[in-house]
Amino acid sequence: MSQPVSDATPPDAAPVRARDFIREMVAEDVAAERFGRQIATRFPPEPNGYPHLGHVKSICLNFGIKEEFSGRCNLRFDDTNPETEDIKYVEAIKNDIRWLGFQWDEELYASDYFGKLYEFAELLVRKGSAYVDSQTSEQIREARGTVMVPGTNSPYRDRSVDENLDLLRRMRAGEFPDGAHVLRAKIDMAHANMVMRDPVLLRIRHAHHYRQGDAWCLYPLYDFAHPLSDAIENITHSLCTLEFKDNNDIYRWLMRECGIERPPEQTEFSRLDLEYTVMSKRKLLRLVNAGVVEGWDDPRMPTVSGLRRRGVTPEGLRDFVTTAGVSRKPQRTELATLEHAIRNDLNMRVPRVMCVVRPLKVVITNYPEGQVEQLDAPSYPHDVPKTGSRPVPFSRELFIERDDFMENPPKKFFRLAPGREVRLRYGYFITCQEVVKNSAGEVVELRCTYDPATRGGDSPDGRKVQGTIHWVSAPHALDVTLRLYDKLFTVPEPDAGEGDVLELVNPESLTIVRGAKIEPSVGKDPLGSRYQFERTAYFISDPLESKPGALVFNRTVTLRDSWAKAQAQK
Ligand code: ATP
Ligand code: MG
Repeated sequence: MSQPVSDATPPDAAPVRARDFIREMVAEDVAAERFGRQIATRFPPEPNGYPHLGHVKSICLNFGIKEEFSGRCNLRFDDTNPETEDIKYVEAIKNDIRWLGFQWDEELYASDYFGKLYEFAELLVRKGSAYVDSQTSEQIREARGTVMVPGTNSPYRDRSVDENLDLLRRMRAGEFPDGAHVLRAKIDMAHANMVMRDPVLLRIRHAHHYRQGDAWCLYPLYDFAHPLSDAIENITHSLCTLEFKDNNDIYRWLMRECGIERPPEQTEFSRLDLEYTVMSKRKLLRLVNAGVVEGWDDPRMPTVSGLRRRGVTPEGLRDFVTTAGVSRKPQRTELATLEHAIRNDLNMRVPRVMCVVRPLKVVITNYPEGQVEQLDAPSYPHDVPKTGSRPVPFSRELFIERDDFMENPPKKFFRLAPGREVRLRYGYFITCQEVVKNSAGEVVELRCTYDPATRGGDSPDGRKVQGTIHWVSAPHALDVTLRLYDKLFTVPEPDAGEGDVLELVNPESLTIVRGAKIEPSVGKDPLGSRYQFERTAYFISDPLESKPGALVFNRTVTLRDSWAKAQAQK
């Protein structure tokens, strides 16, 4: 018999499909051997804050391309601003990239290129392509013109090469105070692109740099340092966000003027922005400094460290940015998209446990006093490819969720009510026989009976109950604190308007619940363990807030999936 012929491509020969316009471009460049060298990208953060979700997008793109096209990716600290940068941010950035599961080829610092950048500056001066301007910064700003009005030439624009070189060397030697002179590219003060109106390349700053100390008093501007740092590192694809679109002209101008062969090329993509939060280190720093949050790693922050403390996994974050995609269309991603990715990831990997958030006591009147039995509860549902179980103690006194009982239930309420029977998850059927109230008329205890024949959750006589509720054994439960997080801002685009974002902070972004009751099995787990609290939400135990015998859990995300619902309705 002849083999059936299949026209399907065997899986290992399947073409690598480009997922976005940048990967498509890189694939073409690789095929055409366009750069004549290995593909190289870089992730270039300024060490002035902690990485946020926008950086995750950039990290996944740059490191993802390195992996997919057998290239290189450098971690380059764009540390050319002595006033705002700090070694603690360098460490945080390295830590977060590693945690996300990426490894850079080289760890580099733009400030280590100050010497090389200075040599490029002299080269430009010698070519007559740069000059020393001695106007004040205000005069320079005024002479730039506007989009409608061309700028005017500086009176220092036609200085001789020798004079420029002499001044530049003396600037370098520290002879002048801050602001006395700057080095500018000599391009065109009437250029349609304002960035090209003789941009400033070097400025004098007598400031202490966290890495270079006092070695330099000449500091390069972004438009000078960034393109040439790419060139120095033999980068091929310099990927950045759309706000640098206008800077592409100066990028190419510098490559030409400095004689860079097969220069790197800049390509822009849209930033990741997320509803109900802000996404820039500078804006996030304001929240930290104003004390609106407890720090960069506050679980309400859109930072990698905040999301980690919130219980999100690296895979969850990577899935999220993959879903958000890479394009040139500016947009704000829905918060539901992030929550959906987190939920999907945690669903497949975390064990289920029972935790009662607002406890109501239940006494099983026909259960023998002092008796305890260990029920075997599976830790994962059957549709999750993980197995395992834990013992859950059952005894005469239990706690159930206050919300799972109603004295006068409406029609569709299928949980506990006077005279009603429900299933205790993994346990027995119980029936509410009596409601005990305090002098204020509040329900303080339910007296119930159980059916011993229903152990494990089924009745041998085929009797059905409509509700299944979670519970814990009162004498065995651990007392825990829950930190419930909500949106950090009250509006989807807090930084869109003119007003101060601090006034839009959600006053209810954190609710602390004390006295929640959790099953004892979690007591043996290491801090930082993640769970699904059945019927409630995903949580992680917080290593910083927890104390021995007093666990604190952060709510990662609720179980309700509004995103999937919205997709289904589309
Ligand atoms: P700052 O507020 O100080 O400008 P930032 O949050 O913009 O900080 P940078 O250090 O300027 O961060 O950016 C480092 C890299 O990350 C850059 O390549 C930048 O294009 C990219 N990046 C920054 N924000 C986003 C974002 N929201 N989406 C995608 N990439 C981003
Ligand atoms: Mg930036």
